Amino acid sequence: GPGEHGGTEVPADLVPERVALRFGARSLTYGQLAGAAGAVARRVGDAGRVAVWATPELETAVAVVGVLLAGRAAVPLNPKSGDRELAHILSDSTPSAVLAAPGAVLPAAVAALPRIDVDVRATGTVPEDRTAEDDPALVVYTSGTTGPPKGAVLPRRALATTLDALADAWRWTGDDVLVHGLPLFHVHGLVLGVLGPLRRGGSVRHLGRFDTDGVTRELTDGATMLFGVPTMYHRIAEALPADPALAKALGRARLLVSGSAALPVHDHERIAAATGRRVIERYGMTETLMNTSVRADGEARSGTVGVPLPGVELRLVEEDGTAIAGYDGETVGEIQVRGPNLFTEYLNRPDATAAAFTADGWFRTGDMAVREPDGYVRIVGRKATDLIKSGGYKIGAGEIENALLEHPGVREAAVTGEPDPDLGERIVAWIVPVDPQSPPGERELADHVAARLAPHKRPRTVRYLDALPRNDMGKIMKRALGV
Ligand code: ATP
Ligand code: MG
Repeated sequence: GPGEHGGTEVPADLVPERVALRFGARSLTYGQLAGAAGAVARRVGDAGRVAVWATPELETAVAVVGVLLAGRAAVPLNPKSGDRELAHILSDSTPSAVLAAPGAVLPAAVAALPRIDVDVRATGTVPEDRTAEDDPALVVYTSGTTGPPKGAVLPRRALATTLDALADAWRWTGDDVLVHGLPLFHVHGLVLGVLGPLRRGGSVRHLGRFDTDGVTRELTDGATMLFGVPTMYHRIAEALPADPALAKALGRARLLVSGSAALPVHDHERIAAATGRRVIERYGMTETLMNTSVRADGEARSGTVGVPLPGVELRLVEEDGTAIAGYDGETVGEIQVRGPNLFTEYLNRPDATAAAFTADGWFRTGDMAVREPDGYVRIVGRKATDLIKSGGYKIGAGEIENALLEHPGVREAAVTGEPDPDLGERIVAWIVPVDPQSPPGERELADHVAARLAPHKRPRTVRYLDALPRNDMGKIMKRALGV
């Protein structure tokens, strides 16, 4: 029953003929998946941690399910990682082997491991489950947005409880068919996007590479849900005015979900206007899996990430350690969480693990937020990079970015703080203009923000770029902007 096999077990009453996974032209039914993953499990045996070369292919999904069935922990590797990052992850996680698609070309550091090719047509049997809920299921490296990636050890309990909490919040069932265009080496694409539908007995259709035509095709052809990162919804928002078929397809989806970074209000509102559907946001981290979400039957307000999921305790804490009482919609505090969805530790980093928890066991997310009067969480930004102390005010970068994105001449925006002799910190706006030949001027953008927010929130300096520095998930790397 649910809880076994770390969230990958298929409901007992499931039809083996039902399609579990489809990647492009190739698909596996639940019966075939059990065979192929069972075969992987036999080959993995007692191998300890096993790396998975996590290309966006059928083999990756089968490999991870196989490792979980074997009772081992999978370490997904980002195939786009540079040699230095891969070397760091391999020496830190010391996998005993690597699972890869036949024919995948592995860089030297990875190829040095014993290799197991994944055969998606194999017919093994599923081994008996001998796992405990504390056993590690995955070691997932954080995005490295704020420092070198850390390996978060995720126990089987965390996967199972987060997926069941999302099922409750989203009314997620085996009838759902997910359109998936995300990479498979992070929790969004792997835990939510692959293990999630499998735990419910539903189907995944992976696009290989995200494009809006694939979204239109799958949602028109019976898919019910779309998971995306904000850069995907931005592309959708940009495409909608000239693509009525996309608007119609999105309009019939049961659920459009965004996460991994803040969804700009401008994109949320444009999608709502063109499709009549509001994207719902959920908030999570590698270390905590999912913490909050707008519920399927709740109000999807732009700029908010909803309410704590069942089983998740959440509080906001001020700098002096006081928990904020009540929901005033204004007082900013750090989000701290507690619950069965949390990781166990950072691999080989007892110092970082200890520093991440309070004495009474709350995990410090490093994300700052307010709570609206109805309990909705509104994320202001990260403590380390998104909170600007200027002229005696504490200002969140996010709302200024949202205001800048409403300017017709602005394609992308990021806001940072820089030391300033008078203000403490000065607000700097990094802008990718729609038209590089005639970008909106510094004065115009400052007035635009001051008119929408408040005069002290206007940027004092504007810098123009061709593109913002982003990682593989589309997250803005503010470290590369000197923060
Ligand atoms: P690192 O921890 O290595 O610096 P990272 O924090 O980006 O990198 P992840 O665990 O992938 O690595 O991302 C979690 C973070 O993403 C959260 O702490 C939060 O800042 C951000 N995030 C996730 N979902 C949302 C959301 N819906 N809205 C705003 N921010 C979000
Ligand atoms: Mg982080």
